[in-house]
Amino acid sequence: MEYVFPPHAQPSLAVAGNHARFPVRRIFCVGRNYAEHAREMGALDQASGFEPPFFFMKPADAIVSGDGELQVNYPPLTKNLHHEVEMVVALSAGGANVTVDAANALIFGYAVGLDLTRRDVQAKAKEKGHPWDMGKGFDQSAVCSEIHPASSVGHPSSGGICLKVNGEMRQDGDLSDMGWNVAEIIANLSTMVRLEAGDLIYTGTPAGVGPVVPGDLLEAELAGVASLRARIV
Ligand code: MN
Repeated sequence: MEYVFPPHAQPSLAVAGNHARFPVRRIFCVGRNYAEHAREMGALDQASGFEPPFFFMKPADAIVSGDGELQVNYPPLTKNLHHEVEMVVALSAGGANVTVDAANALIFGYAVGLDLTRRDVQAKAKEKGHPWDMGKGFDQSAVCSEIHPASSVGHPSSGGICLKVNGEMRQDGDLSDMGWNVAEIIANLSTMVRLEAGDLIYTGTPAGVGPVVPGDLLEAELAGVASLRARIV
C-alpha cells in the first residue's frame, strides 16, 4: 500500500504480563452512569428520576499511556479542566446487537482511566445544544493504565474506584453504583454501532469531579485491578 504521507502510528496500550500491546480502535464513553455524579451535574432530579446513560466518543489517538508517572499537557481553550476517574473496558471481539448474556465474551480486559474534560467548553456546548466533542475529545484527553486481562482479574462488578489529587481523595466510588453494568453497556452500545476488537469503553465516573491545574498529581485506582499516576504539566 502506498500513501501520500506516512500513516500515523497505531495507538495502543500495554497489557499486564504480556509483551504484546492492545491496538486501540475507537474510544466510547458513557455519560452519567453513576446517579451521584448525574446529581452533581444537575442532570438528576427527584421528579424525573434517573436519566438513562448515553454515549460520546474520543479519538483513539487521544490516549495517554505508558510506564510510571504519565505527563498530560494542560489543554488550550479551558480554565476548568476536570478529572473523571473511570473503569475502562477493552474489547478483543466485536458484534452488533450483542445480548447482555453474551457481552462478557467480547471483553479482553480492564483498565483505569481518566476522562479529562474541558468542563467550561462542555457547559457552553450543552447550553447551546451543540456537540460535546471539543469539551471531551481534545488531545491527550483519554488517560489510561495498562490493561489487565479478564483471564487474570475476572469481570469486576463491585469494588472501589477512586482518584486522589496531590494525595487528597477527590473521587471515592464503587463499581456497584453504576447505573448500567458493563454487560448492559456493551449490549446497548452494540445496538447503535457494530463493536469491534480494539474498542475501549470508558464506563462513566462516580461523584466528586473537579478541576486540576498544572503541577497536580492524579492517582487513580480500580481496587485490585489497575492503577495509574499522571502529572498535569
Ligand atoms: Mn466521563
